[in-house]
Amino acid sequence: MEKTELLIIGAGAAGISAASAAWEAGCRDAVLTDRLPCPGGILPQCLHEGFGLAAFGKELTGPAYAERLADGLAKTGVRFLPGREILAVTKEKTAVLSGSGGVEEIRFERLILATGSRERTAGSLPLAGTRPAGIFTAGQAQEMINLRHWQLGRRVVILGSGDLGMILARRFTLEGKQVLAVLEQNAQYGGMARNYHRCIEAYQKLSPLHRGVPHSAPLSPDDPGDSRHAPHHGRDGGGPGQRLARTSPLRHAGHGHRPRPGAGSDTRPRKRGMALPCRKLQQDP
Ligand SMILES: Cc1cc2nc3c(=O)[nH]c(=O)nc-3n(C[C@H](O)[C@H](O)[C@H](O)COP(=O)(O)OP(=O)(O)OC[C@H]3O[C@@H](n4cnc5c(N)ncnc54)[C@H](O)[C@@H]3O)c2cc1C
Repeated sequence: MEKTELLIIGAGAAGISAASAAWEAGCRDAVLTDRLPCPGGILPQCLHEGFGLAAFGKELTGPAYAERLADGLAKTGVRFLPGREILAVTKEKTAVLSGSGGVEEIRFERLILATGSRERTAGSLPLAGTRPAGIFTAGQAQEMINLRHWQLGRRVVILGSGDLGMILARRFTLEGKQVLAVLEQNAQYGGMARNYHRCIEAYQKLSPLHRGVPHSAPLSPDDPGDSRHAPHHGRDGGGPGQRLARTSPLRHAGHGHRPRPGAGSDTRPRKRGMALPCRKLQQDP
């Protein structure tokens, strides 16, 4: 049975960073493993910019950020075992992995679980009906569009104005879909101000169905653009509980809209296939 001082499960941003930090701290026997064939976790499907400000002082897309993290990891001696699903971790400090080569076990002294999070599925949301075909979680939709290049219909309604909802509104618009509405139950959008400006204001102008936002709480002029829950200047003029108001129709990519300068880089055409930094890492054959 293979043994290692440190086993890290999950090669997303957290797992790669943990592995690099462990190496820097003097750990010379570490294994990083993931069920996916390449490192990066969720980052490869996040084509928008917004990553890396703290670590690299620059706004990067998800894939670019993943590549930089993987570049750093490649300079260490951490061993990367891709394509292994962790089935179990026992009290005896053994992890059971399943990969194309069959079931393996690794004994470890220390374990870092960096397996990310999981979206709540449609089944756990209060949706009407028993067969809600055509309803996707934001992460599912993002993966299908950005990584699989699938078409998900032509007319889209997005429930929730968090960062993901707003980023997806822009993505769908750029894909030539009609985003009928981004619906929000609260009085103001839920994501970052910068995403509101870059994704909703710059691309949609206004969804035809849109909850009102009070005028009384304008965006602070010294807001760095990242503050959550910063209200935008209200257009519908209403507060919570107001009826959904009809406003101007959406503008579509390729139909005369002009993205604002500084809009995120998933405004560029998508490239088929991902440039992922798999080969740079130490891997088992
Ligand atoms: C759409 C979207 C937009 C975002 N935008 C931003 C942004 O602009 N700026 C920002 O800073 N953050 C953003 N985030 C958040 C950020 O991307 C995530 O918080 C971060 O990438 C999560 O990293 P992680 O390593 O914790 O998890 P993940 O990236 O999910 O990685 C977990 C890894 O664990 C692996 N794994 C799980 N279970 C097992 C198992 N049993 N066996 C083997 N492997 C397993 C998975 O395959 C995966 O590779 C965004 C997130 C999303 C979804």
